[in-house]
Amino acid sequence: MKKTLLAAFALLFTLCAAGCAEGRLSVVCTDFPCYDFARQAAGDRAEVAMLLKPGVEAHSFEPTPADIISIGEADLFVYIGGESDAWADSILEGFDGADAPTALRMMDCVASPIEEEGEHHHDEGPEYDEHIWTDPHNAAQMARAVGEKLAEIDPANGEVYRANAEAYAAQIDAIDAEISDIVSNARRKTLVFADRFPFIYLVRAYGLDYLAAFPSCTADTEPSAQVVATLIKKVASERIPAVYTIELSTQAIARTVAEETGAQILTLHSMQTLSQADFDAGASWVSLMRDNIEALKAGLN
Ligand SMILES: [Zn+2]
Repeated sequence: MKKTLLAAFALLFTLCAAGCAEGRLSVVCTDFPCYDFARQAAGDRAEVAMLLKPGVEAHSFEPTPADIISIGEADLFVYIGGESDAWADSILEGFDGADAPTALRMMDCVASPIEEEGEHHHDEGPEYDEHIWTDPHNAAQMARAVGEKLAEIDPANGEVYRANAEAYAAQIDAIDAEISDIVSNARRKTLVFADRFPFIYLVRAYGLDYLAAFPSCTADTEPSAQVVATLIKKVASERIPAVYTIELSTQAIARTVAEETGAQILTLHSMQTLSQADFDAGASWVSLMRDNIEALKAGLN
């Protein structure tokens, strides 16, 4: 805890009397990828919180006043730096220099952000697609970046954070090797998304082609009939066995395509958010990507 207002401290003391470990760092994360990499790197040495609760749509999330207070009090604040948590940059600017939490912006930790597809009317230069963690190479870099940042904040335990992050990065590397293997042995290279599309980093990383109902993940209402017809035609003509949806999807478009073509509907987790059930079951980036691997195997063969 960085700032200890007397009242807040008294309250925390009461709440923690049962057994908050003394001296644990507090880490506040915007979304699930940041949260997962932070908790893996921190192990039991930090209290890690996620502002975007399970089951909640990331693209319409707005922080509450309590969220903003928790960011200010955190030892470390981890965020993507994309469209969905663009509010974070302005909140960080709003803190007085000395009061600002140490912040880690994940978009700055990856090699090559990809410009977002779709219609943009910005005068401020390119807008980057925020779903960087869907490429395992980026995910491994993000995990290591959190480990480094924790080591800077708490040098006495620096080697522990680095080792935790490296161990997780090694699991991520194993996933990468598995996906490379699946793709290079696959019968087809095209994924059809009857949904929003948060996977530009994943498909680029493995040289996959894709067709999607929406050009990106930016929440939208309904695609045109023409777009749905294009998906159906593609699936039917190439006898593609599966169409993909993402977590929390209504699956409306996927059902239409499946009814017309007989393709099965599979979920590919974007991991930007996750269902309460997956969260309660202890899902991680690695476990959700393992599910994704099964779904990719089914769709690419
Ligand atoms: Zn998204």
